[in-house]
Amino acid sequence: MERSAQFQREAIEPREILQESDTDLRITWADGRVCSFQAAALRRACPCAQCVDEWTGERTLKPNAIADEVSIGDITTVGRYALNFRWSDGHQTGIYSFKYLRDLCEQA
Ligand SMILES: [Zn+2]
Repeated sequence: MERSAQFQREAIEPREILQESDTDLRITWADGRVCSFQAAALRRACPCAQCVDEWTGERTLKPNAIADEVSIGDITTVGRYALNFRWSDGHQTGIYSFKYLRDLCEQA
């Protein structure tokens, strides 16, 4: 059990967060897994209240509302648990927890 808990923690702890270009982000996790994220896909997965209905959990943001060319303007860390992106389309309210990012990567 303890070993499993340790693994879980390592899995959502980033060792390196690297913005490779305007549209590509790479996260290397403490457990060694490397995840590559593409800006448009990340932008479409924004978890904020403007993009997801807070009550139903339903995504209200339509994928085709986001241009494939959307890029990452800026990335800031939020505490020790999340990233906040400022996108080229001006959107910047999404808080992407490391757990959420890891889940997105595993689903891809
Ligand atoms: Zn959003």
